[in-house]
Amino acid sequence: MRRLFRYIKDFSLWDLLVGLGLTGRYFFKRKITIQYPEEKTPMSPRFRGIHALRRYPNGEERCIACKLCEAVCPALAITIEAEPREDGSRRTSLYEIDLFKCVYCGFCEEACPVDAIVLTRNHDYHFENRVEKTLTKEKLLMLGDKYEKQIAADREEDKGFR
Ligand code: SF4
Ligand code: SF4
Repeated sequence: MRRLFRYIKDFSLWDLLVGLGLTGRYFFKRKITIQYPEEKTPMSPRFRGIHALRRYPNGEERCIACKLCEAVCPALAITIEAEPREDGSRRTSLYEIDLFKCVYCGFCEEACPVDAIVLTRNHDYHFENRVEKTLTKEKLLMLGDKYEKQIAADREEDKGFR
């Protein structure tokens, strides 16, 4: 009897009809997928994407080479070398982040006393070769300059949540 039932099911394409029924049910419902990258979902001001180093409005680097971010990084992804400038101020001579090691925890951002290293909202980036996995100081400052407006706006929005 069970075998007969199975034959009837197979010949009537029952499973296919059930599948089509399910497709039909969702066909007219509100779509939960989006057409990325033309469409984007809302994003939190605290989203943690690619890193950037910020500057003050006068163009001076914020980073004072205290190395707190390097010390707190659980993935040992940050490498910093520092030396004093001619004017006696302390700045980094090398600042690198290895993106293959980074786990995007945001601890570096939390630890920074001058809000210099931040994780931007930018998440759709890619590498063409392995060398690009290392974010150099120049690249980080360039990203900071590029996204400063968004970073500053996110800081303001974030204050509203606290
Ligand atoms: S986000 Fe986390 S893992 Fe990545 S560099 Fe900062 S502290 Fe390290
Ligand atoms: S980015 Fe911030 S925490 Fe890291 S060395 Fe510079 S000032 Fe210190």
